[in-house]
Amino acid sequence: MAEATGFEAVVGMEVHAELLTESKMFCGCGTQFGASPNTLCCPVCTGLPGSLPVPNRKAVELVVRTALALNCEVNRACLFHRKNYFYPDLPKAYQISQYDVPIGVNGHLDVRVNGEMRRIRIRRVHLEEDTGKLLHVERDTSFVDYNRSGVPLMEIVTEPDIHSADEAREYLIALRRILLYIEVSDGRMEQGSLRCEPNISVRPRGTDELNSKTELKNLSSFRVVYLGIQYETARQALALEKQRGISLGASATVPGQPPLKVDVRDTALTQETRRCDEPNLKTVSMRTKEYAHDYRYFPEPDLVPVTFEEAWIEGVRAGLPELPAARLHRYTEEIGLSEYDAGVLVEERALADYFDTAARAYGGDAKKIANWMQSDWLRLFNAGGRDWTGVRVTPDALAELVHLQDEGKITGKLAKSVFETAWETGKTPAAIVQEQGIEVVGDEAQLLPVIDGVLAENERVVADIRAGKVGKLNFLVGQVMRVTKGSAAPDVVQRLMRDRLGLT
Ligand SMILES: [Zn+2]
Repeated sequence: MAEATGFEAVVGMEVHAELLTESKMFCGCGTQFGASPNTLCCPVCTGLPGSLPVPNRKAVELVVRTALALNCEVNRACLFHRKNYFYPDLPKAYQISQYDVPIGVNGHLDVRVNGEMRRIRIRRVHLEEDTGKLLHVERDTSFVDYNRSGVPLMEIVTEPDIHSADEAREYLIALRRILLYIEVSDGRMEQGSLRCEPNISVRPRGTDELNSKTELKNLSSFRVVYLGIQYETARQALALEKQRGISLGASATVPGQPPLKVDVRDTALTQETRRCDEPNLKTVSMRTKEYAHDYRYFPEPDLVPVTFEEAWIEGVRAGLPELPAARLHRYTEEIGLSEYDAGVLVEERALADYFDTAARAYGGDAKKIANWMQSDWLRLFNAGGRDWTGVRVTPDALAELVHLQDEGKITGKLAKSVFETAWETGKTPAAIVQEQGIEVVGDEAQLLPVIDGVLAENERVVADIRAGKVGKLNFLVGQVMRVTKGSAAPDVVQRLMRDRLGLT
C-alpha cells in the first residue's frame, strides 16, 4: 500500500446531507423521497421568472445544530450566494449556496483509527439547495425530475487532515452517526440523501508538497469511498514516481485485498473529477475540475443575511442530545463497560437510549443490563433485521427480568426462556413467570427424588466420582437441571448431590 511506503495521501472530505425538513429550502413544496417525478414542484423550485425565495427556518436550525455538534463557531450573520453554472438539473442556472460566510466554521471531529485518536478539522458547514435529478434512459434521451430541486442540502467540508482510506472510513462512520443522533439527516447513501466526495492528492511522506488533487464523485457507499481512496493513492503515487523517474517503492497492493491493478496509461497528474468503476476496482476520469472562480459567486440579491442571537444559539446547543463520543466515555469510565461493548451500544442512538432507560429502571449495576443487551437482546434484534417495530421487550421489562433473577425467583437458564417469550409476545417477565407457573425449586423434599433418580441412572459416573473424578459432579447437576427444565436452584442441587455422594 502506498501509505506504507514513502508516500502519504492528503484527503479532504466533502459530505452533502439532505436535511430532514418537510418542505424545501426556499418554497413550501414537499421533500418526500420516491414521489412521482415532477409532482413536488412550484415556480420557485423550477426557477420561473419573478418567483422569490423564502428561507426555511427549520433547515437553518438543523445546520446550526450540526455546526455545534461538530464543535464549530457559528457566524452571527451569514450570507447566501449565487453559484452560477448551467446544467439541465439546475433550472435557475444558479444554485443558492453559501460562500465566504457560511453558518459554521473551524470545528473538529475526533475519530478512533486503529486504536488511535485522530482529530479531523472541520473547515465549514454550510447550507444550500439540492439540484434536480437527471435520468438517462437511453442513448439520446434523458428526463429531468425537479422533485429534488430545492431540497435543503447541508455541506460539511474538512481540512485536508485525512491521510488514509481507513481514516476516511472512520470519519464518515462517525460523522454519519452524529447526523443520525442529532436527527438532521436520515443518512441514506443508497437514496442519495448522504453523499461523499473526497478530494485526494499524494505527496512524499514528511513533506508539505502540494500536488494536483482529484475529486471522486458519485460514490454510492462507504466501501466505494474506501476503495476509491486506496486506488487514487496508489495511482497518484505511481504517477509521482513516473514523473520524477525514480522509484520510491510505491505499490498498488493493499493488505487483505486483491492487488489493485493501476492502469499505467492513466498516471497523469491533473486536477480532475473522477468516478469509481467499482467492478474493476479503479477510478476513471470524468472531466477536468472547475475552479472556484468559474462559478462567479455573488451575494443572493433576493435574500437578506440570516442573523442569529446568542441566546437562540445557546438554546439549540442545549437541545443537543448526548453525542456518541460522550456516551462512549460515560459507558467505559462510569459504568465500566469494555470499549467494544460500549461501542456496540452507541452505534445507534435508539440502542443507547434503550440501554440508558433500562439501566435507570433497574437501578443496580448497569453492566447486568449491558450483558443482556450484548447477548440475547442483540441476537434477536439482529435476527429481526434491526427493526425497532419488532422490539416488544420494553426497557422496563428488561429491568424487571434482571430483578427477578437477582431475587432468585428465576434461574439464569429460565431467564433466557422468559426473555425469548417476552420478545415474542410482548408480555412482561413477571406475567410470564406467573402464567407458566415458573418458580425456582429449592425445596429438598421435591428435589431429592429427582437427584436419586439421576444417580440411579448414572452408575458409572457415580463410580467415577467416588473414585476421585469430582469434576464429573457438574454433569450430574446438569442432568437434574435438564429433568427439572431449569427450575431447580443450582446451589441447592449441588449441596444435596454432595451429601448423597458423601463428598465434603
Ligand atoms: Zn417549490
